[in-house]
Amino acid sequence: MAKVLYCNSLVPGCKFEAHGNSEEEVLGDFADHIAIAHNMVNISEEILAMISKAIQEEIRLRAARA
Ligand SMILES: [Zn+2]
Repeated sequence: MAKVLYCNSLVPGCKFEAHGNSEEEVLGDFADHIAIAHNMVNISEEILAMISKAIQEEIRLRAARA
């Protein structure tokens, strides 16, 4: 199941989305992004917990009209 993390859930206004096939992949992408874009190099346990909670199943919206 694909996973997605919207940076906007942690850093309001940021349009970055991390995608991956597992939580680890998403975290890896996101860690690179916040290090570069938000200057957050040291990710504390608390921040990591917040990030993990913000990861969602990627839902592909379909126009399901009966
Ligand atoms: Zn961001």
